[in-house]
Amino acid sequence: MGSIYSESSPPPPPLQQHVVLFPFMSKGHTIPLLHLARLLLNRNLSVTVFTTPANRPFIAHSLADTKASIIDLPFPENVPDIPTGIESTEKLPSMSLFNSFGTATKHMQADFERELQSLPKVSFMVSDGFLWWTLDSASKFGIPRLVFFGMCSYASSLGKVVGENRLLHGPESENELITVPKFPWIKITKNDFDPIMSKEPDPKSKDFEFLMNCVITMARSFGLVVNSFYELEPVFVDYCNRESQPKAYPVGPLCLAEPKSKVENSSRPDNMPALVRWLDQKLQQGSSVLYVAFGSQADISPEQLKEIATGLEESNVNFLWVIRKKESELSDGFEERVKDRGMVVRDWVDQREILMHESVNGFLSHCGWNSVLESICAEVPILGWPMMADQHLNTRMVVEEIKVGLRVETCDGSVRGFVKWEGLKKVVKELMEGDKGKEVRKKVKEVAEMAKKAMEEGGSSWCTLNTLIDEACNGNVSNR
Ligand code: UDP
Repeated sequence: MGSIYSESSPPPPPLQQHVVLFPFMSKGHTIPLLHLARLLLNRNLSVTVFTTPANRPFIAHSLADTKASIIDLPFPENVPDIPTGIESTEKLPSMSLFNSFGTATKHMQADFERELQSLPKVSFMVSDGFLWWTLDSASKFGIPRLVFFGMCSYASSLGKVVGENRLLHGPESENELITVPKFPWIKITKNDFDPIMSKEPDPKSKDFEFLMNCVITMARSFGLVVNSFYELEPVFVDYCNRESQPKAYPVGPLCLAEPKSKVENSSRPDNMPALVRWLDQKLQQGSSVLYVAFGSQADISPEQLKEIATGLEESNVNFLWVIRKKESELSDGFEERVKDRGMVVRDWVDQREILMHESVNGFLSHCGWNSVLESICAEVPILGWPMMADQHLNTRMVVEEIKVGLRVETCDGSVRGFVKWEGLKKVVKELMEGDKGKEVRKKVKEVAEMAKKAMEEGGSSWCTLNTLIDEACNGNVSNR
């Protein structure tokens, strides 16, 4: 067939597809969507990221080397219990304020829709599950909305089966093992789930209303972006796609979209050169390092913090420990006593860069899903210590399903129990020096290889992202 364009007038470039991303205002939800922005930009789509003024600098720094546009909408004022100026969950005085924070975001809807009106045509939108009201906005403008929740398919599947079978409402005690129907090799306890799931729901409570808003709008969205890859959890991805709406697109690990070289990167935190020098020194001495960090929002009690310090001191391993600013002071003399082999940091670090350092050989982690994927991709085995949300299920997955880590020992054997220093020392040594540590270190390398292949051109996540873009841009799709 001939072309209507002569050689002297080349065809116009195809209309560029335009995607709106709207991450929730917490680092664990924002970072993976910024990685998704890179993947979309690499495929020549244009990207606009929505956020709030206080979150803008982090996003602008992260995407400084890209052509992404950023629009900030004012964060609602006078929200009950939320101090003025706090626009992200990691800055909340306590996670008990999460509901007020999440619910308040609805007041951004009018501004969001005003901005959507003036944007070039939007092909599709990816917004966080906690920003449930963005589905209405998307539907008003005829834009397909994909939802991002940041959970793996294993955790989503277990949540669904457990809810449908009312497993959390049976006679068992909080810590008794319960076999999961449909996946009988998996045993969970009631304590693996957030208390809101295990109590009889109070339909009038604000927590229940928020949860329902998020769940219902997710099911009515066009698709679900999953930060995982098919080969990691085929049984669970298939289960979700067979049994739930909307269609799940595993397109990760998204962290692999981040540029490798950080040295000249403007988003690199100022403390990194010194930390990397310290890690280099350990490598030169032939020693390995345990990285210790519990994500951006876990609340750790002063008593628990003390046991961690003693456990690390007594285990005699080298460690780099990131503590959140709001956590209390460590006991007098701790940092001085361990200074030859332990480094304590109280600022934001580049976790990915630390994990990728050759000297880092273990990660004591709360098993936030991003941390799990980042550790896997860096070939670092995990010592799981879940604290909240989906982290208990993630730890089961890490330890029992994909076997890339061990779990800390609590003093009463329960998944939410207190961890004494003796138990911590024992598992730290096992991970860093023992036979079980060797096994999970070998396994994590195999899984890391699978992850890299999934993201390479032609890999499962690569192809799934192409399918997603194709279906969202050209499929005449709509939200339900
Ligand atoms: N993170 C980081 N530096 C820090 C603390 C956290 O880069 O000092 C990043 C970490 O690499 C991950 C995210 O913040 O990408 C935390 O997400 P995760 O799901 O692991 O835990 P959450 O903070 O949501 O509990």
